[in-house]
Parts: sequence; structure tokens; C-alpha cells
Amino acid sequence: MILEQFNLSGKAAIVTGANTGLGKAMALGLAEAGAEVAAVYNSTPPDHSGLSQELQARHHPIQADLSDVASVDPLVDQVIDELGGFDILVNNAGIIRREDALDFSESDWDDVMNVNLKTLFFLSQAAARHFVAQGKGGKIINIASMLSYQGGIRVPSYTASKSGVLGLTRLLACEWAGKNINVNGIAPGYMSTANTKALREDPVRNQQILDRIPAGHWGEPESLQGAVVFLASEASSYLHGCTIPVDGGWLVR
Ligand code: NAD
Repeated sequence: MILEQFNLSGKAAIVTGANTGLGKAMALGLAEAGAEVAAVYNSTPPDHSGLSQELQARHHPIQADLSDVASVDPLVDQVIDELGGFDILVNNAGIIRREDALDFSESDWDDVMNVNLKTLFFLSQAAARHFVAQGKGGKIINIASMLSYQGGIRVPSYTASKSGVLGLTRLLACEWAGKNINVNGIAPGYMSTANTKALREDPVRNQQILDRIPAGHWGEPESLQGAVVFLASEASSYLHGCTIPVDGGWLVR
């Protein structure tokens, strides 16, 4: 039955950046669909105190600093130790730096590219190796952006990284579709999180953005739960290399 295909009971997922914002909401959506979730955080562990005992028990907080690819193997090993393996990877952790391109620093370039693109690739590689060894296939879901499609302004490394995420999602899908691994993405629109606080607090930019969103309001982190559960589930088994915009209509404007 079709609804059974969305059921993630018996599956385990890694969600990076799961302590806040979009990652926390997607981790909760996957847990509500039945998955065990390795909720990866860097400095502040996720707070699940408001959740039911059952949902709290499905979250397994794991610390990793994804600015360094050396974190990848220990992270994967810890997840395999604690959860016995995993079937789903959500590459959500990401950072942004804002500065005029004329003044942009090398460290603002490297810091963003390391978390948003380099570690995303090597964590995907480690996950795919695990999926192949496990012999059950798997799901990789990369979190892209409107700036995977558009230029933006004053965020050169972010635009480069998120444009890279879109391309890499396509390449990995081509290489791994035949191994029963679905690689897809979600491109969130303008969502109300810490990442966009500066934009929302700037009255001029905030109004410009609102005027351009057909839905007329910022997205909420929970708006991504349907897409992430779909991409993590059997319901999307023939979907490869696709990045789904969840953007209130921004891209089609
Ligand atoms: P956020 O700043 O609230 O969350 C970012 C997450 O990344 C945090 O959980 C943080 O712990 C994690 N992270 C950052 N650096 C890390 C590191 N070195 N090691 C481990 N974890 C690290 O932002 P958000 O809005 O929830 O963004 C989540 C993702 O969605 C990001 O990839 C972001 O680029 C993307 N995105 C956000 C929006 C938006 O409007 N909020 C739009 C498009 C894309």
C-alpha cells in the first residue's frame, strides 16, 4: 500500500546539523516516520525535551566537527557502533559568510567550502561505501539552496558551494543509481532560521524577499519534513539526481 512506502520503521538515518533549524525539523520528521536518527551536532547538543519519550528515544545525538574531513570516518564508525548501520544520510550542515566579493577573504572561502561541499562529498562517499557493503542500497539527501540556481549577492563561497551541491547531487546519482542508492536534494527557499536572521532583521531586504515569494511568507523548518521523508523512503525509489525546491514558489516567479 502506498502509505506503507513512506514508513521508515527499521531504517536509520544520519542527519548533520540536527541540533537546530532545518536539520532539527528534518530529523524530527524522519523520527516521526519511524527512523532511528543519528542527530549530528557540532557544539550545542540538540534539545529534545519537548518530544514524547518515543521520539526522544529515536534521536541519538553525536558530536562531529564537519569543518574537517577527518571527522567523517569516526562519525560513520560511531553511527555503525550505536545504531548497527544506517540507510539514509541527510547532508544538511552548512554555514554562510557575507561580504562584498571585492573584500572576500580566503578563510571565508575555505570555511564555507569545507563544511558545505568538501565534507558533504566525503561523508556521501563514506555512506555510499557503507550502503554497498551493507547490500541494501540507501538514500542520500543533500540540502541545496536557491543559490544553487541563482547568483545572490555578497555570499560568493556560499553560492559556489550550493551550486556545487546541485551538480554533485547529479553526478553522484549517475554513479550510484545502479547501486540502488538514491541521491537527491532539497533546495529550501527563504526559511525562518538562524541562517537567515540577518536578512529577516533588515526591514528593506525582508520586504524585498516577501514581495517576491508567491506564497507571501517565509518558510518554516517543518515545511521540509514532507520532502525529506519522501526522499528517504521507498516512495522515491525511482527518483535520482533531482533537487526539489521547497520555496513557496520563489524559483518559478
Ligand atoms: P542553521 O545555521 O540554523 O543550522 C546550520 C547547522 O549546521 C547547525 O546545526 C550547525 O550545528 C551545523 N554546522 C555548521 N557548521 C558545522 C560544523 N563545522 N560541524 C558540524 N555541524 C555544523 O541554518 P539552517 O537554516 O537550519 O540551515 C541548514 C541548511 O539549510 C544549511 O545547509 C543551509 O545552507 C541550508 N539552507 C537554509 C536556508 C534558509 O533559508 N534557512 C535556505 C536554503 C538552504
